[in-house]
Amino acid sequence: LLELDRATVRFGGRAVLDAVDLKVAEHEVVCVLGPSGSGKSTLLRVVAGLRPPDSGRVLLDGRDQTRVPAHRRGVGLMFQDHQLFPQRDVGRNVAFGLRMRGDGKDRQAERVAELLELVGLPGAAGRAVAGLSGGEQQRVALARALAPRPRLLMLDEPLGQLDRSLRERLVVELRELFGRLGTTVLAVTHDQGEAFALADRVVVMRDGRIAQAGTPLDVWQRPADAFVARFLGFDN
Ligand code: ATP
Ligand code: MG
Repeated sequence: LLELDRATVRFGGRAVLDAVDLKVAEHEVVCVLGPSGSGKSTLLRVVAGLRPPDSGRVLLDGRDQTRVPAHRRGVGLMFQDHQLFPQRDVGRNVAFGLRMRGDGKDRQAERVAELLELVGLPGAAGRAVAGLSGGEQQRVALARALAPRPRLLMLDEPLGQLDRSLRERLVVELRELFGRLGTTVLAVTHDQGEAFALADRVVVMRDGRIAQAGTPLDVWQRPADAFVARFLGFDN
């Protein structure tokens, strides 16, 4: 579905993404791990089309999308800070993802209800965003990202601001949800436990490069080098 071909992004002469090659297959859930500043968010922005690479290509279904604007790529992105519209109710936040598709009003309300059901917030369309807990807001942001039925959903620290017990519960729910929808997912997380629970494959980044990519079990049992081993916490 997705292929990055030597994607490179430079800031001030430094390669923040350094000739990254990555393939993501249809229905695959891939989690990107790595220290702060290793280029994870930049990778997602390049795939989403929010930042053109300085060199290299982004392909979707084998077609070069490097110059295609973000809204025409059919990919969804949920940001690190989920950026809901605080002055609009839950329903209008979710419908924001639909409006871009130009659906009719009735159909829209129906879809919003479906999406809220899907993320475990049935009947919440009329609630004020400000009155929601962090976990509920995160679910609303997810419903909004799922609204246009993206073939590829990108999540940047989707559970970042939640406490551990809520994260653990949501990870299980997300895994089940993505399986059921057949959504292809590329998700960034700081949390190894989360990555290992969610992913078919994990990608560990270091200084703009992929230090290792493989199944969670592979990476866990056979870290490619000392950096990955240390990152996974084997010597502390
Ligand atoms: P975190 O885990 O903290 O979110 P990250 O892996 O997502 O980190 P990126 O946000 O991709 O990291 O940033 C990678 C590097 O690129 C960082 O050193 C960052 O300072 C730099 N960078 C990102 N965006 C810009 C920008 N617009 N201008 C200059 N430097 C930038
Ligand atoms: Mg980031």
